[in-house]
Amino acid sequence: MIPGPFHYHRPTSVAEAVALLAAHGDDARPLAGGHSLIPMMKLRMAVPDHLVDLAAIPDLKGICEDGDRIVIGATTTQREVIGSDLLAARLPILAETARQIADPQIRTKGTFGGNVANGDPGNDMPALMQCLDAVYRLAGPDGSRTVPARDYYQGAYFTALEPGELLTAVEIPVPPAGHGYAYEKLKRKVGDYATAAAAVVLTLDGGTVATASIALTNVASTPLHAAAASALVIGTGLDAATLKAAADAAKAITDPATDGRGTAEYRREMAGVMVARALAKAMRRAKGA
Ligand SMILES: Cc1cc2nc3c(=O)[nH]c(=O)nc-3n(C[C@H](O)[C@H](O)[C@H](O)COP(=O)(O)OP(=O)(O)OC[C@H]3O[C@@H](n4cnc5c(N)ncnc54)[C@H](O)[C@@H]3O)c2cc1C
Repeated sequence: MIPGPFHYHRPTSVAEAVALLAAHGDDARPLAGGHSLIPMMKLRMAVPDHLVDLAAIPDLKGICEDGDRIVIGATTTQREVIGSDLLAARLPILAETARQIADPQIRTKGTFGGNVANGDPGNDMPALMQCLDAVYRLAGPDGSRTVPARDYYQGAYFTALEPGELLTAVEIPVPPAGHGYAYEKLKRKVGDYATAAAAVVLTLDGGTVATASIALTNVASTPLHAAAASALVIGTGLDAATLKAAADAAKAITDPATDGRGTAEYRREMAGVMVARALAKAMRRAKGA
């Protein structure tokens, strides 16, 4: 319950935050909504000497459209994601997913950027970002760079983020109007991390799937982009045999932990069930049903 002592910093620009993070290296951590980091500090599983609070940096906030992309600032909260008219119109799967994350208090503080940067396989936004083929903007002492969400996650709490770097924003390509989407999450109760969850975005040409992308949450040490399962459904009408084949292809890439949510075998099976449900729901939505 009691965190270790630390120095608190409140920079007002990205440059200042990056300079602080670079100066203190592994001893410093960015503080965003604090709803993953502070619980870890209270358990002394994280004992940073320096917290670099991102709350007073205006450049990290907000949601805007930039050509064919939507750009979400790192410290935008889950509550702001849910309340955004722009996202509701262009990327409704964002709010659908955010509503299944944690609870109202946590969504009021917890940030979109903290969720994707964190590296906890339980977080829901990372797989969604892989599904949407989002790109992460990182700022560091040597300048800025971008990393695709599909390349960012290397293991539980291991990501492409280098010491001294900050996730500043996420760029998400906007799927075509009328696309189908679904985030299906199996969990034991409100605020639980997924036993298994699946994100799906697809488009139709007539009654046939023209494009599809599937990703999985919390069934491996990282989020998973299910490329083979996605490819399988393209050109089909998502009949029962295709749904089963896609579910089987998705299950094949999982490597779930056995924990209080069930055995690895059960969670793998549930990943397949979530994929089939998400595909079917996305199809119904694309058809306007
Ligand atoms: C009871 C409970 C239930 C929850 N349930 C869910 C759930 O179902 N699904 C889910 O997805 N999440 C869940 N969460 C996690 C919650 O969504 C977190 O708030 C979120 O994962 C982290 O966001 P944050 O803004 O709070 O980040 P913080 O806790 O401030 O930071 C998390 C980590 O990311 C780093 N970080 C933060 N921002 C940046 C940045 N811009 N650049 C680089 N590094 C950064 C921090 O240094 C830290 O290591 C739950 C949390 C709690 C307490």
